[in-house]
Amino acid sequence: MRPIQMVDTKTQYLKIKPEVDKAVIDVLESSAFINGKPVHDFAANLGTYNGAKHTIPCANGTDALQIAMMALGLQPGDEVITPSFTYIATTEVIALLRLTPVFVEVDAKTFCIDPVALEKAITPRTKAIVPVHLYGQAAPMEAIMAIAARHNLAVIEDNAQAIGCDYTFTDGTKKKTGSIAHIGTTSFYPSKNLGGFGDGGAIFTNDDALAAAMKMIANHGQSRQYYHDVVGCNSRLDTIQAAILDIKLAHLDEYIHARRTAADFYDNAFAGNTIITTPYRADYSRHVFHQYTILLEKGEQSAGFRNGLKEHLAAKKIPAMIYYPVPGHRQQMFASFNTAAQEMPVTDWLTQRVISLPIHTELDEEQLNYITMAVLEYVGG
Ligand SMILES: *Cc1c(COP(=O)(O)O)cnc(C)c1O
Repeated sequence: MRPIQMVDTKTQYLKIKPEVDKAVIDVLESSAFINGKPVHDFAANLGTYNGAKHTIPCANGTDALQIAMMALGLQPGDEVITPSFTYIATTEVIALLRLTPVFVEVDAKTFCIDPVALEKAITPRTKAIVPVHLYGQAAPMEAIMAIAARHNLAVIEDNAQAIGCDYTFTDGTKKKTGSIAHIGTTSFYPSKNLGGFGDGGAIFTNDDALAAAMKMIANHGQSRQYYHDVVGCNSRLDTIQAAILDIKLAHLDEYIHARRTAADFYDNAFAGNTIITTPYRADYSRHVFHQYTILLEKGEQSAGFRNGLKEHLAAKKIPAMIYYPVPGHRQQMFASFNTAAQEMPVTDWLTQRVISLPIHTELDEEQLNYITMAVLEYVGG
């Protein structure tokens, strides 16, 4: 059996090696390392893929969120509502820009922001909402956009974990996540569903004014060369990364299919188990399984039991991860906002009971069998 990894980018690369190697060599020979043609080609192709009018490549997914928030013209002290149960990048940039993060609960089934908790958290200072499509499951965007419209708030979708996810509205309209809200952001970190061979990110919008503002901010606030209208930053996607990503974009649907096939295998193996809750698949979207995250919530209910599974798997050379052991509202970096005292029973419950199993495009049945047997051996039920 091939060694099991959380994500196997090497095997995935070997399948497209000739194409990728040629694209990289072409960039080396052109020497257009910054802002070369592949950057524009990739942005155009990605825009066609996800349906957003404007696609702005940038250096990483964290910058994408920061640039989006800067473009909204938020002022220090303005409140931005976001789930506590997410990767730190989402919430960190809020505080970095001297805005106030307001953490709310997630839904126990989707693991995404709970619209009821979200609406309750709105105050006269609230200016924006940042839902996260966690693990590849779309947040309930229809409800979120309706709340935002009622309260005149901007919405930034953190789509770092769900690129390619289809969302169906109640009227039957379909959109890709990341192109639904006022702004969408994503990351091309190597382990993401569309991963580069280094860092990368992108921002999406259908709004011409926001697109112009974000392009300018990502480029030192420059409107024309050496004329800087606003304070910006320097955030670019390398030409080499764009060339690689453009090739991988053509395989994205295939990659999503492979992830969903592995998820189906896990679901079947764990069906009927009395301890494991398998990932919920919301009927409004097509889960793209950036992570396959189970909950050990029935029977023995403790973080110790969950951590024991991680150790049991490690002993069998099966990696597993806890995404995320400490929720945002309890992070030391937010101590000045006094959020740790907030009651977040669902978030706390999840942080103690989730465990993510290996999922990627290269898992074979032998590996999946080995993993599921090892999980079942430990949890019983
Ligand atoms: C990966 C990730 C980011 C940040 O992306 P980087 O490219 O690593 O900066 C932001 N939000 C979420 C939810 C992520 O998973």
